[in-house]
Amino acid sequence: MDKLLKGIMKYRCTVKEQMVKQFLDVRDNPTPKAVFFTCIDSRMIPTRFTQTNVGDMFIVRNAGNVIPHSQHFMDELTTNEPAALELGCVVNDIRHIIVCGHSDCKAINLLYQLQDQEFSSQTSYEELRDNRRISPLRAWLSTHALSSLEKFQQLEITDYSKPLIFQAETPLRKFVAYIDPENKFTNEDKLSQINTLQQLQNIASYGFLKKRLEKHELHIHALWFDIYTGDIYLFSRGAKKFVLIDEDNVMKLLQEIEKYYS
Ligand SMILES: [Zn+2]
Repeated sequence: MDKLLKGIMKYRCTVKEQMVKQFLDVRDNPTPKAVFFTCIDSRMIPTRFTQTNVGDMFIVRNAGNVIPHSQHFMDELTTNEPAALELGCVVNDIRHIIVCGHSDCKAINLLYQLQDQEFSSQTSYEELRDNRRISPLRAWLSTHALSSLEKFQQLEITDYSKPLIFQAETPLRKFVAYIDPENKFTNEDKLSQINTLQQLQNIASYGFLKKRLEKHELHIHALWFDIYTGDIYLFSRGAKKFVLIDEDNVMKLLQEIEKYYS
């Protein structure tokens, strides 16, 4: 709290005035451009690494940047992420949804460990249920991120060489993904990349987005942040892999976005 209060004091005499001006501009002319899903990890500061500002993005954060599939909304218990999608894409007519995963994600590292338990015939149902009851994090991951784990296991079976197939905006818009083809990252990071891509299908599962997605008025993108290098990757459906966003690739990536999403 000490650090926080001192920070607020510094904010008051440095950026506050400029921010209030920006708030007024946004009130008169609100044009948010993206709904951005990312992890709660303290190292992830999306407005800094995308250099975005007041009024630019709606940001939704949770452990492991997971968007529950709509099948879990049926019981009306899981409402946060879909409510954010509705507020962003329907009420505010935002056209781009971005899911941003990252390396060394503690939630994904736990999900990776859970595979031994969730898929092991040695673990009894009661044991699994008790584990979930005492750990909301385990419950969250094993309910909503198991589909990512299943995809990871498909990759494992093929010794990480075969591509995976994901679904994006509509069931017809499937895409192929080679996960970490240069084998630069750990298994946990590979799972994190898979989990990021899996969310595209989960987002598209919501009926209230269906028309917008079918008419190509709403687009879903996957970003991945490598914490220890600071590099950011965009999933390219043309290249079928995460491509580093740098001086060499950025124009190509922008052209692809225009081609695919116009
Ligand atoms: Zn994380």
